[in-house]
Amino acid sequence: MKVLVINSGSSSLKYQLYDMEDESVMAKGRVERIGMESSILSHEVENKPEIREVSEILDHTTAVRKVLDMLTHRDFGVLGSIREIQAVGHRVVHGGESFGESALVTQEVKLEIRRLFDLAPLHNPAHMTGITAVEANLPDVPQAVVFDTAFHQSMPPTSYLYAIPTVLYRKHKIRRYGFHGTSVDYVVRGAAELLGRPLADLKLVVCHIGNGASCTAVLHGKSYDTSMGMTPLEGLMMGTRSGDLDPAVVPFTINKEDLTLNEVNSMLNKHSGLLAVSGVSSDMREVVQAMNEGNESARLAFEMYAYRIRKYIGAYAAAMNGLDAVVFTAGVGENSDVLRKRVCEGLSFFGLALDEQRNAERSGEPRKITTDDSKVAALVVPTNEELLIARDTYRLVRQS
Ligand code: AMP
Repeated sequence: MKVLVINSGSSSLKYQLYDMEDESVMAKGRVERIGMESSILSHEVENKPEIREVSEILDHTTAVRKVLDMLTHRDFGVLGSIREIQAVGHRVVHGGESFGESALVTQEVKLEIRRLFDLAPLHNPAHMTGITAVEANLPDVPQAVVFDTAFHQSMPPTSYLYAIPTVLYRKHKIRRYGFHGTSVDYVVRGAAELLGRPLADLKLVVCHIGNGASCTAVLHGKSYDTSMGMTPLEGLMMGTRSGDLDPAVVPFTINKEDLTLNEVNSMLNKHSGLLAVSGVSSDMREVVQAMNEGNESARLAFEMYAYRIRKYIGAYAAAMNGLDAVVFTAGVGENSDVLRKRVCEGLSFFGLALDEQRNAERSGEPRKITTDDSKVAALVVPTNEELLIARDTYRLVRQS
């Protein structure tokens, strides 16, 4: 079965076409600047140069049509006919409390995703546009939705409630949801395989450290707590997001700097984190380079970033009354041995012994980076959210 995975943003649409026979990626690409002048479609097939096509793509329906044209293109395509696509899976950021797992798209599911627009006003409407655009182009093909929040629906109320008047939870569902769930779900399976133990026996902390970053306590295969909250702003320090902060900073800053609420919101989401403290960049590679060249602000940003990850790992080890492994994943987690080293150095007290050589090795494969006699393991497991979306879609469509 061929499954098309789509991640639809407000002005972009990323895609990957999977052959589920062997889970190989047949083609992938992205459409950018949808609805703007000069939209760009980039399309990649393994062992062939990337194709870039600039044209006017005014809406998502046209974007999906262009993608389908490309997938069946005489020279750059990989399919004889679009009829070979038997299912489409969509990434959806927010499933609220309604979705504890992935679902096939039905009228009710679409209605529920619409009801959740309030909780993810930037993301969910864009995902809905993607679903409608696929319906318009492939009306008979089943679609599935895979939610970033779903994996965390197993959190107990002690983890997901805020200590604010409960009427706000009852009326508006103000609570912690957590994100990166698809990634965490994927990497914990790889971690269990590496450790050679059933997931149901394990206590893990997954550090998904990319541009957005979160830690998740995974107890016996289920999310027990996670650092992101009602929105992805809570928790760790990130590329441009502040992470945890005293909420009183918001009204105080509004008064002192004569800012609007929207401006403070934008400051916390887009102008904080690594970018703000380093004054250099939101990209960890550039921060580390500046630090190595003697930039003290970059060093402080790096240290704060690592310190906060370490604090969460410690907190979650206490929350689970134990820890078998720390799992690093995503852009920074998979690639920055310097950051992993700094985080792990502070965890030697509970028996995590980093193997510096293993940590420094560059490989795209899941691997252990602690010594063989380390009491707590540290692992690097590359994430693959698209593959998990393809697998869930395949499973749901076959079961239907
Ligand atoms: P993601 O959000 O998972 O795609 O991660 C993107 C981030 O990964 C980028 O913003 C970089 O900061 C970071 N990154 C990628 N490669 C490296 C690397 N070799 N060293 C440090 N950070 C990296």
